[in-house]
Amino acid sequence: MKKIIIALLAIVCVSCQSAIQDNPLKDKIILFVYGGWDGHQPKQCHDFLKPWLEEQGAIVYSSQSLNSYTDKELMGKVDLIIQTWTMGNISAEQERALTEAVRNGVGLAGWHGGLGDAFRNNTEYQFMVGGQWVAHPGGKIDYDVDIVDKKDPVTKGLKKFHMQSEQYYMHVDPGVKVLATTTFDDEHASWIKDVVMPVAWKKYYGKGRVFYSSLCHDVDDFKVPEAFEIMKRGIEWAALSKEGK
Ligand SMILES: [Zn+2]
Repeated sequence: MKKIIIALLAIVCVSCQSAIQDNPLKDKIILFVYGGWDGHQPKQCHDFLKPWLEEQGAIVYSSQSLNSYTDKELMGKVDLIIQTWTMGNISAEQERALTEAVRNGVGLAGWHGGLGDAFRNNTEYQFMVGGQWVAHPGGKIDYDVDIVDKKDPVTKGLKKFHMQSEQYYMHVDPGVKVLATTTFDDEHASWIKDVVMPVAWKKYYGKGRVFYSSLCHDVDDFKVPEAFEIMKRGIEWAALSKEGK
């Protein structure tokens, strides 16, 4: 009898543990900041992603102001910041508050220009993100994404896939962990033929986990299952920043 109880307890513990692992966003507090250049559909992307975050059990604070970064009470409790804010201006105080929070362990996740082309004058911000957009030769074009890290939980099990969107050419920090790449041809810029460019990466900034994907110019691009999956898994990884798991 005793053995059966121990065995049952073991099963319960294992299932508890897997439930926790299966739902990393449960009870996580997320600050979702959206705004900036409207061409990237920040509101539509926010409205698309927020229900999924809440379905996972996250508590989402939505903000259309960079002043949220200087809200000490809010920043003191958030686990993760999701930002989509293309080509804006951030004040020195806002940038300091954001970078300090991430350095101290708040996770940061974002995609495309909303994280990777946000504040062009702010090099400390770019140092934190790990890359800065510089061009998308040809505009919306057909291109492939290759999964280069097949073991990482963010890209595990995914295969090469196709996008019809902007292929981001970026200046990238060599210190990032590259998960997926894309290879340029010479159709729109002869000198970049065969250049292999990171598409998705993870990195640390201080104690904070930073996840970035250059995919998803607009909300329609999230309909590409792999692009959405990479974003979801990247968010999940970054949301566990404070736990350091
Ligand atoms: Zn774009």
